[in-house]
Amino acid sequence: MKLRKVSAAVATVVALSLAATACGSSDDSGSGGGKIKIGIKFDQPGIGLKTQDGKYTGFDVDVATYVAKELGYDAKDIEWKQTPSAQRETMLANGDVKFIAASYSITDQRKEKVDFAGPYLLAHQDLLVRADDTSITKAEDLNDKKLCSVTGSTSAQNIQKEIAPKADLIPVGGYSECLTGLENKSVVALTTDDSILAGYAAQKEHQGKFKLVGLKLSNENYGIGIKKGDKDLQDKINKALEKMKSDGSWKKFVDANFGPAGYKSEPAPEIGKLS
Ligand code: GLU
Repeated sequence: MKLRKVSAAVATVVALSLAATACGSSDDSGSGGGKIKIGIKFDQPGIGLKTQDGKYTGFDVDVATYVAKELGYDAKDIEWKQTPSAQRETMLANGDVKFIAASYSITDQRKEKVDFAGPYLLAHQDLLVRADDTSITKAEDLNDKKLCSVTGSTSAQNIQKEIAPKADLIPVGGYSECLTGLENKSVVALTTDDSILAGYAAQKEHQGKFKLVGLKLSNENYGIGIKKGDKDLQDKINKALEKMKSDGSWKKFVDANFGPAGYKSEPAPEIGKLS
């Protein structure tokens, strides 16, 4: 009796681990049925946001969900992973996620480590300042001033290399961490893409507090990051992005996610062409 119980328990464990292995192995098939891990931002309203009740919203979330569907995965099969700016290349190289849609600009430097599909959005670097601040109207006004941005972002790199090399850059892990400092005046500005800044400015708790300066300091071509060398996946995602534009979904996602913040996006970019 006792022995039978034990062997039944063993059988259960074996069955369970077999099932787990089966699930795991279908992960990579790309043909549906399994789960897919996708990297997004969790703290960027309008782009990639994990809400308090555990939902995921934003333009990148909609684009990624559309692409996943074209690859054979339903929305319920998606496991969202947070991919902070400084960790994106490593997470792709490690296979932590299948692809990344996280305000991820296509750059030559990044292309040494990862590949991109797209672009699917053109944004521009800008500054977010306090609503009553009239002292910052151009990039040079940042020199010797404290400004906040994110480690591993093009925003931080552009400031240091060309836009305002003499500014005192305070690097943090995610843009939302800059907002308190901006409000309590420990920094004069937060710099990153206008698409992201518009989302923060429009948040209920920030209304009337901040404004975008409107400088278009750079071109940021958002791409879908994938593991280097995965040509097959790159082709499939580019096809999905092409379809997303032609069936009206791109426009729908732009209006739904950027409309509330009053962000006027550039027209849909051409796949394979950087601005
Ligand atoms: N698009 C820029 C970048 O890829 C800034 C936004 C971000 O850090 O995600 O670095």
